Amino acid sequence: MGIKKVSVIGLGTLGAQIAIQAAYYGYEVKGYDQDSEIFQKTVQKVLGMMKFLGKKPTMSVEEWHQTAAKVKLAKDLGGALKEADLVIEAVPENLELKRKVWAQIDSLAPKGAFLATNSSSIPISRIESATQRPEKCLNIHFYQPAIGMNIVDVMGGTKTTREAIETAQQFARSIECIPLTVKKEILGFCFNSVWRAIKKQALYMWAGGFVDFRDIDRAWMVFTNMNHGPFFLMDLVGLDVVYDIEMSYYNESKDPKDQPPKALKDMIDRKEMGLKTGKGFYTYPNPEFAKPDFLKG
Ligand code: NAD
Repeated sequence: MGIKKVSVIGLGTLGAQIAIQAAYYGYEVKGYDQDSEIFQKTVQKVLGMMKFLGKKPTMSVEEWHQTAAKVKLAKDLGGALKEADLVIEAVPENLELKRKVWAQIDSLAPKGAFLATNSSSIPISRIESATQRPEKCLNIHFYQPAIGMNIVDVMGGTKTTREAIETAQQFARSIECIPLTVKKEILGFCFNSVWRAIKKQALYMWAGGFVDFRDIDRAWMVFTNMNHGPFFLMDLVGLDVVYDIEMSYYNESKDPKDQPPKALKDMIDRKEMGLKTGKGFYTYPNPEFAKPDFLKG
């Protein structure tokens, strides 16, 4: 496959996890974030998330810290990109920002490097023209938390080569993720589109006052045999991130049904953004859904 060196740009919630995941499976990983402290903060934060997942994570706490120490943190973008075979961008979900960062990445990364975005909702066809190498550009979308959710969406743009797609598929398999390949461009990729339909309906039911959000989570937990429901998953992702993603769909369709509910925006304005701020739909570190009698209703 030829990928040995992976560079991750943006080391926040997802970027840090992707960097550690790749380092764990033997890649030489360099990372860069404009906030030099965010990587270490995220390393701690993700451990806090794992206890709610109820699944066996890919690595132990000890391995997690050991692997985090293997990620080389660069002082600037050029330093992170110098020898990259694959670049994964994980800066915030904003098309203008991503295009700006991609133009810089394109000018600094080796000409042969593949460039991927971890965007949750922006198809690579909107970003590829910021580069001189659209044939090497694609979406590689990880799920949260990357070390416990081993699926990855892979989607090409208007010029992406088969080689780029196959490289991404092999890269996903090499870090023990299942590649979910999108054959024809669609907003939300493969599973994220399905998850979005669930999330959108759950938010509509809650914001419209039809049901208590806890009942949706209870039903989901019984129905899927998972130990949490869609509202915890939104808390985990971050309600600001959920809002931005929903706005991307709305900006695309202009359909009022796609507009995220005002009640969600109100929570964000109150700094209730989920796990990362200690309060979202649930209150952390001891959320109601994790209590033994939650399913009794
Ligand atoms: P985040 O806000 O936690 O992290 C983004 C990081 O990018 C921050 O640390 C910020 O300092 C850094 N950054 C901003 N501008 C930069 C620049 N010019 N150069 C370098 N670093 C810069 O966001 P996140 O939740 O990790 O999301 C990142 C991307 O991953 C988004 O596109 C999002 O849609 C996607 N994603 C998020 C999730 C999730 O559950 N949070 C899941 C899948 C995909």
